[in-house]
Amino acid sequence: MVIGLDCAAPELVFDRYRDSMPNVAQLMEAGTWGPMRSSEPPITVPAWTCMVSGRDAGELGLYGFRNRVPGQTALRLVDARDVAVKRVWDWLGEHGHRVAPLFVPLTSPPTAVHGQMVSGFMYPGGDARWCFPRALEHELEQRFGPYRADVDDFRSDDLDRIYRDIVSMTNQHFEIARFIWNERQPDFMMMVEIGLDRFHHAFWRHIDPGHPAHEPGNPYLELGHKYYAKLDSRIGELLASVDDDTVVALVSDHGARAMHGGLCINEWLLARGQLALKAEPAGPGPLRHDDVDWSRTKAWAEGGYYGRIFFNVAGREPDGIVPPSEMAALRDHIVAELETLTDDDGAPIPTEVRIPEEYYRQVRGFPPDLMVYFDDLRLRAIGSVGVRRRLVRENDGGPDGCNHAWNGIFIMRGGGVPARGRVEGAEIYDVTPTVLGVFGVPRPPNILGRDWSV
Ligand SMILES: [Zn+2]
Repeated sequence: MVIGLDCAAPELVFDRYRDSMPNVAQLMEAGTWGPMRSSEPPITVPAWTCMVSGRDAGELGLYGFRNRVPGQTALRLVDARDVAVKRVWDWLGEHGHRVAPLFVPLTSPPTAVHGQMVSGFMYPGGDARWCFPRALEHELEQRFGPYRADVDDFRSDDLDRIYRDIVSMTNQHFEIARFIWNERQPDFMMMVEIGLDRFHHAFWRHIDPGHPAHEPGNPYLELGHKYYAKLDSRIGELLASVDDDTVVALVSDHGARAMHGGLCINEWLLARGQLALKAEPAGPGPLRHDDVDWSRTKAWAEGGYYGRIFFNVAGREPDGIVPPSEMAALRDHIVAELETLTDDDGAPIPTEVRIPEEYYRQVRGFPPDLMVYFDDLRLRAIGSVGVRRRLVRENDGGPDGCNHAWNGIFIMRGGGVPARGRVEGAEIYDVTPTVLGVFGVPRPPNILGRDWSV
């Protein structure tokens, strides 16, 4: 049984909220646990797919929630149809094990498995399918009401409403999981709760005294204890129907940290003459591709937890001007400039730059030409233009106090796997070989990761 808590941070689960989580603490005491390094980039999509496939994001061709489409500069949302590799439940099913992936990101639309699947967040609603087999949809709705794959509008100021929505979604997910576990008795079940990620984005500034906008004594200060305790009691209910032969793992796809602001990556490219607009923007707003003067643009960027810089390459982009033979020189030039990046007052901002072709084992799909992390993820990449500053305090996608952090959590106990206590060095890619190891399924060729079950 794998229980995934999206965005669970080691400092909170292992330390700050440990007293509010007696069931999780018990898993740790009798098991193996430690921080677990996320994927590159450390974003929900692709991180969970890296975890359940043992492949890096380059091999998957998944560089974020949205990916480039050949022949246009626009990006489009990805879904399960963009996953071109087998996932851990596919390998298990082929070996005759009955599986139940529940609410795992990038399982919408659901795919056929040897067992049951319930789609995760990004399920679009309406007439879209969300269960395999489809008859399960009716059965679950009869028992647990309309399916809630996510919380609407979690970057909003209506915090009381957000918290209510998170809790009722979390309750429904754990009830469905308990029902599937007890009634369908799968050999392998994996559930992912997205509610914790939404909680962090909405409440981080209120629960973290280290956040620059934290107000001491605010009414939400203790809500972290409350929600983590809620998760723990739901986990405890699930564990009550787990026998000693079952291996239980509690994992997360990345951690969380205070957001200290954002670096306006397109403003920076504009100031360096790499990006040109047809007219000066009237005020701050997203970079509209219709407003870009592509005949004078060599590079533009997409914002988010990290910056994705794309070059306007002749033959690849609709109005490309950079000859492919000059791409390497442009890349070197921009990398060198990023290394001397400063804020508006001239203070240096540390950056980490990755070149996808060099970093990943393989590069599929449409990778960025450069991937940039600002100040170890303290700063987001802000894609907006017309800001007239390099650094801003707020996210351009709505109020948000939380960025992702490199380390998530890994806890494993039971079923005769070694209890190592606290360990260092676990990686998100370890989960697939570990699960396969527990079942004695041969390790597929070329997957990443270490088997912690031996
Ligand atoms: Zn996530």
